[in-house]
Amino acid sequence: MHANEREVYIPRGKVLGGSSAMNFMAWTRPSDAAVEFGAWAKLAKSKAWGWKDLLPYFKKVRSPTTRLHSLTPAQCSLLMAGTFPLSVQSETFHAPGPNNLDTSQLYDKSAHGHHGPVSASYGPYMSTQFSAFFASLVNMGIARATDLTDGGPGGVSWSASSINPSTHQRVTSQTAYCKQTPLFHVTPTSVLIDATCGAVWERSGAHCGVTH
Ligand SMILES: Cc1cc2nc3c(=O)[nH]c(=O)nc-3n(C[C@H](O)[C@H](O)[C@H](O)COP(=O)(O)OP(=O)(O)OC[C@H]3O[C@@H](n4cnc5c(N)ncnc54)[C@H](O)[C@@H]3O)c2cc1C
Repeated sequence: MHANEREVYIPRGKVLGGSSAMNFMAWTRPSDAAVEFGAWAKLAKSKAWGWKDLLPYFKKVRSPTTRLHSLTPAQCSLLMAGTFPLSVQSETFHAPGPNNLDTSQLYDKSAHGHHGPVSASYGPYMSTQFSAFFASLVNMGIARATDLTDGGPGGVSWSASSINPSTHQRVTSQTAYCKQTPLFHVTPTSVLIDATCGAVWERSGAHCGVTH
């Protein structure tokens, strides 16, 4: 609608884990600024779509072992409000450790989750090119951002990556939620690969089948 008659290339990861299996792993969030979450809240005519109200959801997901169908309506309301005790955090943040260039990295621990299956970490290797680029921007008067996930106004910083620092492997929605945690225990589920779903069938409010 807003592409001005242009064709825009939008790659998507059509694999288990979706685009998280092939993305650039940058662990960032839009800012609280008027042009980002502020604009969204304005569009929705509700503060609830702004930065402060969404932050708990960035940190939390529902408990993968919860049988959602067994929740009472009151428990569902608490879950949606983010106050149900079975809500857990999605992220485990690993503060930056030493790196090859002895560069100090700023971060804001309070902007992160600390008990979830998605690891966010900083690599121990910094390229000299990026280090020079960083220094140039700072010399030009660009502010140094504290943490690219804290809703701040932006600036120059190093981004954490969705990489497990123990195994040095990419974290995807599949590795985080299907392998590490038994999400598939929520309902009996089969995974069909090379299948495009055309319709999802429901019976009595529950998914009961797909057409593919
Ligand atoms: C090249 C690239 C780089 C990116 N870099 C970053 C980054 O550095 N940091 C960042 O935060 N984000 C990045 N993103 C964005 C991020 O990866 C996506 O926003 C995120 O993965 C979206 O998650 P999703 O679950 O909504 O959808 P997806 O990850 O797209 O998952 C959708 C899944 O559904 C499947 N599917 C769709 N339709 C059907 C159907 N009809 N039948 C069966 N299956 C179907 C798809 O195959 C896919 O597995 C990047 C994305 C791309 C493509």
